[in-house]
Parts: sequence; structure tokens; C-alpha cells
Amino acid sequence: TVGAVARDAQGNLAAATSTGGMTAKLAGRVGDSPVIGAGTFADNETCAVSATGHGELFIRWAAAHEIASRMRHRSESLLVAAEHVTLHDLPPDSGGLIAVGTDGSVALPFNSEGMYRGMIGAGGVAWTGIYREELVAVE
Ligand code: ASP
Repeated sequence: TVGAVARDAQGNLAAATSTGGMTAKLAGRVGDSPVIGAGTFADNETCAVSATGHGELFIRWAAAHEIASRMRHRSESLLVAAEHVTLHDLPPDSGGLIAVGTDGSVALPFNSEGMYRGMIGAGGVAWTGIYREELVAVE
């Protein structure tokens, strides 16, 4: 799965997710990536989210929309909402997600061993990382 989230200079948010699905999936299976609110979600008032992992679980928890919903209705920050859904709602080893908030904040939580992540900031500065350590800057 390859996902991307973006915030433009006007504050518009967008999310996109592309996947081949799970290995050895049943024919006709629909994963979470194309299900808006499960593996992919964006609105300009809260956040943009793209997820990877066991799609059935992200569908069951409506994970991407749940983050936006917690921000909207509980006034949680993006980081608090994204970490709550990833680390408390979803079961361990189900996956992770990338998210950007309307204020430009970023959350990249996962509950699996690792997740390839990269980020480009406003100045064109880029970071990348796989595991839980700090993201490292790349030239
Ligand atoms: N979430 C995708 C799916 O369940 C798979 C993945 O992210 O690797 O189809």
C-alpha cells in the first residue's frame, strides 16, 4: 500500500491510498483503501488520513473517519486522535497511518513493528524513517 496526505498553502487537505490488497486475499475482497472513512479520508475542517494494514480492521473501526470525528466532536488534536485510534482502538499489529491536520500538524502512528514513512515540510526539507525512532532528515 502506498498512501499520501497533503495540505496546500490555502489549507486544503487531501488523502490518497493505492494498494494491491492483502496477500492471498479472496477474489472480490474490497479492502479499506477505497472505502472512504476506513483507509482514506479527508476534510478541510479536521484532517487527511491514509492507512495501511489489515483492511478489515480499519473498516470495522472506520479508522480514518474516527480520527476526524474525535477532532471535530471532542476537540482532540490530530496527534491525540490519531494515536488513540491506532494505539487504543485498533488491535496490536493491525497497521498504521499517516495524517495531516488542518493546522499543518502531522501524525504518523503505527502499532506494527515498523512502517515506512516519509515527510516533506513547507521548506522542502524531507524526513524518512521506518521504526519508532525519530524521523531522520534526508538531503
Ligand atoms: N490495507 C490494505 C488492505 O487491507 C493492505 C495494506 O495496507 O497492505 O487491502
